[in-house]
Amino acid sequence: MPEGDTIHRTAARLAGALMGRALTRFDAPRGFDRPGARRRTTPTVGPTPGTVIEAVEVRGKYLLIRFGDGWVLETHMKMTGSWHLYRPGERWRRPPSTVRVVVGTDEWLAVCFAAPHAVLHPPSARPRVAPSPGAAGPAPVVRPEPGPTHLGPDLCRPDPSLPEADVAEILHRLRTLVPSDTRLDTALLDQRLFCGVGNVYKSEVLAAAGLNPATPLAAVGDDERRQLAAIAHRLLRANLGRTDRVTVPGGLAVYGRAGRPCRRCGTPVERALTGPHHRSTYWCPACQPPASPGMGLSAQVKGAGPAAPGK
Ligand SMILES: [Zn+2]
Repeated sequence: MPEGDTIHRTAARLAGALMGRALTRFDAPRGFDRPGARRRTTPTVGPTPGTVIEAVEVRGKYLLIRFGDGWVLETHMKMTGSWHLYRPGERWRRPPSTVRVVVGTDEWLAVCFAAPHAVLHPPSARPRVAPSPGAAGPAPVVRPEPGPTHLGPDLCRPDPSLPEADVAEILHRLRTLVPSDTRLDTALLDQRLFCGVGNVYKSEVLAAAGLNPATPLAAVGDDERRQLAAIAHRLLRANLGRTDRVTVPGGLAVYGRAGRPCRRCGTPVERALTGPHHRSTYWCPACQPPASPGMGLSAQVKGAGPAAPGK
């Protein structure tokens, strides 16, 4: 799954090319997904040619394109999808057989390849996620209909600090949506609590906070939870619009650095596969000691030696 900053970068590029322009082409050769259904549908109606492309927005890891006549296209890239921009006539860099959606204007074709999730919402059913002030375009209508409602507040917003309402919502979700013995590395990836943190930032946020990845939520009070959200927001925001991720001078603090010296104390960085999806987790055992004796990450995850970053 891409990090939240990747999807924001894509949205910014699409917005620059499409927003305010008249739609000249809208194709979905492989149909659209229907929430809750296994089969895709081939649309017989959709945004009308000539309608203005009003906004390109990010909600968590979903990318929404809003059309002036009320239609909303919702895509999620997961591991396989990508949006490309082409000039008319330019050669496409991925096979036409993997095209999910084409959104065209006189000047640009935005082509979505291989996205596992592409839903077209009719004008009567606006996506139900709350608007974020950093989003491009007019504020959407909020309705309890299709869309990624389960997502927590977006930590990838350009605002200098997280709004207090978002922080309160995050604290509420942390108390009510997951058990208190949930490990911090698992909680950080749970997009229902807050969204934007992927596997790279998970390790980086914990390193910046000096917290061991195995620490259970129960050991972390509201003040520290606020701090974690603020750190995640700060790191993600600092990387919006960049292609190389930098969280500390020189690059990343721990991610991808197994066996190499901690940039602060020189202790070799450790790595283990953790959580339900066995994702790579990196930490400095000295700067991020276990929250209590016997709760060390290494003790819990056996046989996960150094390996290439990723997963
Ligand atoms: Zn260290």
